[in-house]
Amino acid sequence: MLWAYGNSIAELQKVVKKALPKWNSVYDLLQGGYGFDSPSQLFKTIGLYDMTQKTSYNYFKEQGIGEKIVYRFVDCISRVNYHQDGNINAFTDIVSLAGAGLDGGELFSVEGGNDLMIKNALSSQNINLQLESEVTSIQKLSEPNKTGHIIKTNIGTSDTFEIVVIACPLDLTNIHLPQYSVKRDRAYQTVHANFIAGHINYKYFNDVGNQPQTIFTIEDDSIPFVSIAKTGYAPDWDLPIYKVFSRNPLSEEFVQSVFRNINGQVHQEWEAYTVLSPMKQWPSFRLGNGLYYINAMESAVSAMETEAVAARNVMNLSIAQLRNIRK
Ligand SMILES: Cc1cc2nc3c(=O)[nH]c(=O)nc-3n(C[C@H](O)[C@H](O)[C@H](O)COP(=O)(O)OP(=O)(O)OC[C@H]3O[C@@H](n4cnc5c(N)ncnc54)[C@H](O)[C@@H]3O)c2cc1C
Repeated sequence: MLWAYGNSIAELQKVVKKALPKWNSVYDLLQGGYGFDSPSQLFKTIGLYDMTQKTSYNYFKEQGIGEKIVYRFVDCISRVNYHQDGNINAFTDIVSLAGAGLDGGELFSVEGGNDLMIKNALSSQNINLQLESEVTSIQKLSEPNKTGHIIKTNIGTSDTFEIVVIACPLDLTNIHLPQYSVKRDRAYQTVHANFIAGHINYKYFNDVGNQPQTIFTIEDDSIPFVSIAKTGYAPDWDLPIYKVFSRNPLSEEFVQSVFRNINGQVHQEWEAYTVLSPMKQWPSFRLGNGLYYINAMESAVSAMETEAVAARNVMNLSIAQLRNIRK
């Protein structure tokens, strides 16, 4: 890295490290009970809104970061994390680089799987969880002086709640919201995740280098994949498993030329994240009295941590509302 980019790596790290304390300040605000009506209000308060309104290409240029490292290194990371190049907003690219270790910190995961957090949180409470059903409509109560919404599902249930929190991207659902005019036209980035049990055929890469297990790519229309990374091992076949990300479906011809001894393939297509270029119009966290929207945050940046922050924010808004009602 030093050989290829020299001092630019240290300069890039400085830019990432400068932004992160601002982001981290949101935790104290939320802990203190703050509730932001919208993601833009949140980002303005912590001093990061301007960064969300600039492309990463422009932002890094302003910060004096050389083009070579931006197009050949930063783009590789943002392509893996978001399947998008430096036209994404600069804050998202900072998050992407922090995730790649450029803030100098460590990445953590829960032993036994991150989903244990959700499972244990659910089992510690008396919750009626309906997994095999979909919400089909959310309607405001029609009685005057009453706050609340009726939730209907595709299995015929109909229940009324004082607080309703929408925790999915509305653009990708058919949830009927007759009394609200929420914009549901965010563009999404298609991601193809391909899992292949087999060995990499390094001849495809002209046998260059020392047979890396991870291969990233830059923006170049002639390259049909975004990244290849070893993700596991198939003991039954004694073969490594590789995850190949691509923006379009991989052709069988490509798979057969990049891998050898293939013994299994799984493919999953996602409308993964919003197209994260700078956007002025973001949905609000507060859609109405007693109706909140966590996924509004995904217009600014897409990540589990930022969604958890949005969820905590919505909890603060809900508590403030309930206190007001009960005064
Ligand atoms: C391929 C891929 C890789 C990613 N990698 C990372 C990563 O490495 N790190 C990271 O931080 N983030 C990553 N992300 C982003 C992260 O997954 C999202 O930021 C996060 O999941 C968004 O959380 P959410 O709760 O708002 O929505 P979701 O996680 O999408 O959850 C929405 C839930 O609502 C349910 N639902 C939808 N419609 C209805 C309905 N009508 N009724 C009831 N339920 C409904 C869905 O089934 C789903 O369970 C990745 C995303 C993708 C697609």
